[in-house]
Amino acid sequence: MTTIPAQDLEQYGEIIDRLVTTPIGRSRGNLFQPMKIVNMYDAARAKFGRPLCLMAAEMIHERVKPGDNVLILTGSYHPLHFPVGEMDGPPGGASLALSLSTGLGVQPFFANEPPLVKLMEEACKAVGLLPMPYDQAIQRDHTAVVVSFPITDHEESKRAAQELLDTYNFSCVLTSERLGRNRQGRYHSAGGTERETQDRCKVDHIVDLARERGILTVGVGDGGNEIGFGSIFEETRKIVNWGEECRCPCNDGIVSIVETDALIVAATSNWGVAGLEAALAMLTGNQDMMHDRDTEQRVLHRLADMGCADGATLMTTPTCDGTPESASLDIVDLLKGTVGQAFRTFNRRF
Ligand SMILES: [Zn+2]
Repeated sequence: MTTIPAQDLEQYGEIIDRLVTTPIGRSRGNLFQPMKIVNMYDAARAKFGRPLCLMAAEMIHERVKPGDNVLILTGSYHPLHFPVGEMDGPPGGASLALSLSTGLGVQPFFANEPPLVKLMEEACKAVGLLPMPYDQAIQRDHTAVVVSFPITDHEESKRAAQELLDTYNFSCVLTSERLGRNRQGRYHSAGGTERETQDRCKVDHIVDLARERGILTVGVGDGGNEIGFGSIFEETRKIVNWGEECRCPCNDGIVSIVETDALIVAATSNWGVAGLEAALAMLTGNQDMMHDRDTEQRVLHRLADMGCADGATLMTTPTCDGTPESASLDIVDLLKGTVGQAFRTFNRRF
């Protein structure tokens, strides 16, 4: 197996981060704030001091062992806006599950609002993983476990988090595009409004408890309102629209206080997850840890056909955050190509 020397790997880490933080394909409008990604990235870089995707990949590679249960938290539910979920989140969660399952031999796991369980199961099937109950899943290759997490208040959610962690003993909890509460215990959209705190499952308590127990946590996000941005809380409040004051009665801003051990900032969360896969592929020498364009297209189409909606336009198209479908497919292609080239050497003779 070819390995990439450490100093080269660090430079490829920079390339990956630049690819996934380039806000291509954004339309204008009240969500148009493309430089926020760059500014949040700079804040996270100053905090962690390393390429973000590579750093997260190294922590996973070091801490996660074959046979471990790994929990992935993703998906956004709203009874009116996203009754079948939102396109940014679940596709990346599923492709990451595939990557970790085939590359590291782990059992991928999801915990979602009851209305999103079917969506997550379909996302898994689209990438090649069969959803099964845990007892069966661990006996078969290429499976995923999707359990429901209750929609209830903060205290009950903490109890449910404890039960889930006690039962499955995860070695790592990853989140992508998963909203985290602010200082007032409320959840917000990037547009500054409250995302019906009473209607959502508060999986950020799983992340808090995981950190208390020393379980590795990795957050991926693009808006500052997600789990992980507590790690650059004060900086993000100054960067994003509605960062310091929101449009809901709490008026404490949209930025989440929930921290993670590693944070990946990306132009679209699915792309950040793909960047993590690319870094894992370079680190392990297993190029299959980075999924391909066809897989990306399959999962985007499957979820759109189910009624999953683009987070910006609310249309049930295979698009994320209002960017064209080709933007997601091309980013995956560029990352896949970058991984391939990282394993080739060419020295000019003059
Ligand atoms: Zn608020």
